This record gives sequence, C-alpha cells and structure tokens, in this order.
Amino acid sequence: MRTEVGIVGAGPAGLVLAHLLHLRGIDSVVLEARGREYVERRIRAGVLEQGTVDLLDEMGVGERLRREGLVHEGIELQFGGERHRIDFPSLTGGRAITVYGQQEVVKDLIAARIETGRPLLFEVGDVTVNGVETDAPSIGFVHDGERGELRCEFVAGCDGYHGVCRESIPAGVLTEFSREYPFGWLGILAEAPPSNDELIYCYHERGFALHSMRSPTLTRLYLQCRPDEDLDEWPDDRIWDELERRFALEGWMLNRGEIVEKGVTGMRSFVVEPMQFGRLFLAGDAAHIVPPTGAKGLNLAVADVRILADALAAWFEHGDESRLAGYSAEVLRRIWRAEHFSWWMTSMLHRLEGGDAFDVKLQLAQLAYVASSPRAAASLAENYVGLERV
Ligand SMILES: Cc1cc2nc3c(=O)[nH]c(=O)nc-3n(C[C@H](O)[C@H](O)[C@H](O)COP(=O)(O)OP(=O)(O)OC[C@H]3O[C@@H](n4cnc5c(N)ncnc54)[C@H](O)[C@@H]3O)c2cc1C
Repeated sequence: MRTEVGIVGAGPAGLVLAHLLHLRGIDSVVLEARGREYVERRIRAGVLEQGTVDLLDEMGVGERLRREGLVHEGIELQFGGERHRIDFPSLTGGRAITVYGQQEVVKDLIAARIETGRPLLFEVGDVTVNGVETDAPSIGFVHDGERGELRCEFVAGCDGYHGVCRESIPAGVLTEFSREYPFGWLGILAEAPPSNDELIYCYHERGFALHSMRSPTLTRLYLQCRPDEDLDEWPDDRIWDELERRFALEGWMLNRGEIVEKGVTGMRSFVVEPMQFGRLFLAGDAAHIVPPTGAKGLNLAVADVRILADALAAWFEHGDESRLAGYSAEVLRRIWRAEHFSWWMTSMLHRLEGGDAFDVKLQLAQLAYVASSPRAAASLAENYVGLERV
C-alpha cells in the first residue's frame, strides 16, 4: 500500500487530521487498533471549545453537533456552601463551550471518512513505524491475518498515550515532562436528566465533585477518589450518596438514575518535546496528557492536527518545509498554556493528600477571588472556552 500520510490511530486527532488532509486533496490511510464499535462507544471527554466546534463546522462535520450539542454559556463553582456562576460570553467577548460527547464526535468523523472513500482500517495489529529518519518511511501492520506495509511520505502518530509511535522514537531524542497526582476521578454516566443546566465544579472537604452531562437525558458525574480506587467498593447507592453529600445545597436535588457506565481515571500531566522525529509527527495524547479538570485533552488534540494539516499542506502544495520544521514549537505553546490551566484548576479544586489547614485556606482564597473578581474570572473563562491566540 502507498499513501501520502500514514495516520496511526482513529481517535479525534487521527480522524480530524485525515479529514482536513482530504479537504486539501492529500491522501492518507488511517490504521486503528480497535474495532469501529469499540471506538464509537468509548466514553471520554465531552466539552468542546468554541474553536473546536468552529473547526468541525468548517470541515462539514458539524451538522449533528450543531443540532444535538448543548451550548453552555457558563459554569458554576461551588465551595463554602454556595454556588458562583462564571459567565463566559460577558467575560470572553461572546464565546461559549458546547457539550457533545467525544464518542459522538468520533462517530461523525468516521461517517465522514467512510463517505470520502479513503481507507480507514480497524482492528489492525502489530503496528511498527519504520524509516522515519529517511525520505521513505513505512508502517508495518497486520490486518485480517495478513501482514501489510504502508509506504508513505509522512507518519502521523495519533495513537494516544499508550500507542507505539512515541515509543518508536530512539532513546535520547525526546524529553519528558510529567506530574502524577495522588488522586483520580470515579466517573459515572447515568440515565438521568442533568440536575443543573450547566457544569458544577464542586470543592468539598470530602473531595472534588463534578456535575456534567452528555444530553438532556444523560448525566455525567465524577468524584475525586484514590488513583487505584477499587470499583467493587462502590455499589451504585454509595456513589449517589457520596455525590449528594458533596453537592448538597439547600433547595437543590440531584437526579438519580440507572448507572450505565462506571470507571476510574488516573490524573496525570505529561508532555514530550519535541513532537517530531524525522518524518514522524506526534499529535494529541500521543505527545501530551492533561488532567481532565480543565476539559482540554480532546481540544488540544484537535488544535495540534489543525496546525499539522496546514504544515503538511504547505509541504505537499508548495514544497515548503518551514511549517513542518516549526510544528513542534508552534503547538507546544498552546499545549503548555493548557497544561498550566489544567494543573491550576486541578490544584485549586481537589483535596490534597497530606495537605493541611493552610492548603485549604489557600484554595478557598483562590476560589473566592475567582468568584468575586471579574478579572480573575475572565482568566478562567478565556482559558476554559479556549484561547484564540497563544
Ligand atoms: C479514560 C479516559 C477518560 C477521559 N475523560 C476525559 C474527560 O472527561 N474530559 C476531557 O476533557 N478529556 C478526557 N479524556 C482525554 C481525551 O479523551 C483525550 O485527550 C482525547 O481522546 C485525545 O485524542 P487522541 O486522538 O489524541 O487520542 P485517543 O482518543 O486516545 O485516540 C488514539 C487512538 O489510537 C488507537 N491506537 C492506540 N495504539 C494503537 C496502535 N498501536 N495502532 C493503531 N491504533 C492505535 C487507539 O485505539 C485510539 O483509538 C479522557 C481520556 C481517557 C483515556
């Protein structure tokens, strides 16, 4: 097989890149380890920045998103027994976020890819990335029991944190920056109407909690927990009781419903630099991870490939190598901004293991500042809806 860009991974990064390249007339083949059904059902992120929504629209894959996505013009911060609203449009010149599940974005992108007739191979195994330091890289793989080789001009490593692309770069090339947090999120998806019109970020002495949603009938809720929390110790009633305790507010009720998904996600910050080796370019979770408190993971993945697509187009259309050479430095500016924002939100909102009364007072002072100062609130708001320029 031969193509112009070999893309490893059909998550948001790989699929958006494939479609952007298609729109520029550049051929690609997408290789995905999992099956289509699995990828389309994987429950993950759900908050889309304004820029992500606009891009999906411009790409012609935003029709269902515009119809079914829930536009949110603010979030609420809960602490000290009160809720405080952060109003996005007034603080950011009219910008907002849209709540639309990552799996729905992925479904729309897969449908669009299939429509183009360009290849997207599921259940591909034994992927190896070869010769990226030459002008003729290739990707080895097994599909339908047969070994194949995809020759290409460039390889895009969009295969997430546990993928093979980053690992295929020789030792000593990449520098890793990381931080592990001593807590995780126990997340549930419940068949219950959301109990609030907007997301609630709740600071509580028993730990952080987040009220979110995926649709008018599906609520997404999270509890701060240990990173190795045993789900067997959390029967449904215990989860609901704990959520009620943390969100408790006079006159407010949490809607309960059947829990259809339950999982524990660890919290980590991680970046590799540079995001390029020869003709291999990393994008999305393959190169960076943020704790989900800032809702940035999916949005960063999309922001990376938007720039990568432009850089590849400059090479294919005009032989211009400068955009590709500058790719890593260009995307890392936004990545580090988002890393800081995600770390800041995480540090402000979670109970810190080993923290003392002084830490608690500092967190409450910071929350009170954000809730009471329009300037502090504007900083949160502009980062949350996504900075136009970084
Ligand atoms: C469990 C979980 C929960 C999350 N929850 C949230 C959340 O609540 N809010 C939020 O903002 N963000 C969340 N995120 C982060 C967000 O989902 C990611 O940042 C986003 O998916 C990044 O997109 P991506 O395309 O870079 O990577 P991915 O979505 O991980 O896609 C990578 C793709 O590559 C495939 N792949 C892996 N290895 C290979 C291989 N060897 N060969 C071929 N294909 C391969 C994978 O199957 C996958 O389909 C969560 C992430 C995880 C893992």
